[in-house]
Amino acid sequence: MNPLKKSARLATVNYDIRGPVLDKARQMEDEGHKIIKLNIGNVAAFGLLPPDEIVQDMIRNLPGAEAAGYTDSKGLFSARKAVVHYTQQLGIAGVAVDDVYLGNGVSELITMAVNGLLDEGDELLVPSPDYPLYTAVTGLAGGKPVHYLCREENGWLPDLADMRAKITPRTKGIAVINPNNPTGAVYPRETLLGILQIAREHGLVILADEIYDKTLFDGAEHVAMASLATDVLVLTFGGLSKNYRSCGFRSGWMIVSGNKAHAQDFIEGLNMLASLRLCANTPGQLAIQTALGGYQSIKDLVAPGGRLARQRDRAYELLSAIPGVSVVKPQGALYMFPRLDPKLYPIADDQQFAYELLAAEKVLIVQGTGFNHGDTQHFRLVFLPHLDDLEEAIARIARFLSGYRKR
Ligand code: PLP
Repeated sequence: MNPLKKSARLATVNYDIRGPVLDKARQMEDEGHKIIKLNIGNVAAFGLLPPDEIVQDMIRNLPGAEAAGYTDSKGLFSARKAVVHYTQQLGIAGVAVDDVYLGNGVSELITMAVNGLLDEGDELLVPSPDYPLYTAVTGLAGGKPVHYLCREENGWLPDLADMRAKITPRTKGIAVINPNNPTGAVYPRETLLGILQIAREHGLVILADEIYDKTLFDGAEHVAMASLATDVLVLTFGGLSKNYRSCGFRSGWMIVSGNKAHAQDFIEGLNMLASLRLCANTPGQLAIQTALGGYQSIKDLVAPGGRLARQRDRAYELLSAIPGVSVVKPQGALYMFPRLDPKLYPIADDQQFAYELLAAEKVLIVQGTGFNHGDTQHFRLVFLPHLDDLEEAIARIARFLSGYRKR
């Protein structure tokens, strides 16, 4: 009998944030080692728990959720209405309850949107570096991810000339992650307007991933892309995982705005895909109204002196002090994407580098190529651990690098 093989589509799929280096870390934990895990933005693992108000309302609502059973495929009216009110605060025009889809986290909705958009061989423009879900689901949908460059020397902002140069007759859309994972960049209005202009000229859909839109440092301003255009179709993704520290509730939304009249067939496809998965989990939906009703305590954590702001500042300071390490200071989200100078640290295989760091110092990071970045000189870390753990982790990275230099 032939061995059962995975589908050919899966052959292109990578998700190194939970990849083989994490498997190795788990094995080491089973053997009794304590690993400092800087690999994943799972805020709860670092004691950043959902706001009590959300938890208490969820508990109160659970008996109702039981009675509700499946909800409408797109989600509960009250929760979608709360998202509509949120769009009004963001300045996104013309959004009705029917334009809002709720999902089990935005991951499910991003997967739905990409599947609804692409035919075999169609192209989606995806940033490099990216949050790797976009590249993965584009391949799974039979499409081709085409990476536009974000420039480190320019604060990791997208290179619009590169984006434009990579458009072909098969391009269907542009994914824009702002604030960005893995780089922490927050895009200025002009950059967003430039991307919208490209989309307008070529009839492309924008997938605007704004899941970190309240996770902002140094007074950075976040502009909702969909607030800047009514003549381009924009799918805006947001949710509770990060801003409301509730990733375990699996609750997110997708907002369809802009040139909807031109996209009726695509929207029918989205409705079909929403129906196929029946609905998002009801308790997660019930949390949305409370969350959007004003409880925004991530703001205290990211404000100057707040826990996340202090951790970001310290991680930046300590990493920048290591010879041959440079890092763009993140203005948003929960990550840093440092660069290792190839003259001091010539890294041929960055997954191997991550394995070696793990084995030697018991610190887990994710290699830059896991984010579809073009070189092997970067890695991503989360600055979520408390200061003492963070300081310890970066001291270990520094020690490892100092040995690496002397090889
Ligand atoms: N989009 C980005 C940019 C992310 O960083 C993440 C999670 O880290 C997600 C989407 C997934 O979010 P969710 O928990 O809502 O599925």
